[in-house]
Amino acid sequence: MTPTPDTRHLTPDEVELWAEGLLPAARDAHLAQCDECRVTAGRERKLFRELAQLTRFAPEFGFVERVMAKVKIPTPSGPHFRSHTDS
Ligand SMILES: [Zn+2]
Repeated sequence: MTPTPDTRHLTPDEVELWAEGLLPAARDAHLAQCDECRVTAGRERKLFRELAQLTRFAPEFGFVERVMAKVKIPTPSGPHFRSHTDS
């Protein structure tokens, strides 16, 4: 079921997804056991909430729909999260 454990740190994009509650479970699992990512994520969430308060009167339909369209696509054949930071 679970392929290779994902030990890569969260990218800024993934941290943003997490702040929106949209992070894939595999990456969420990494966050649960990585202090470094939790600190980053906590900071991002604070920022995200402040931003949400600032923009709460502004319509954000387009943004939400774009994000949802992305995450609702199922991934049938294994993880596509691959390290592109091999060094
Ligand atoms: Zn990490």
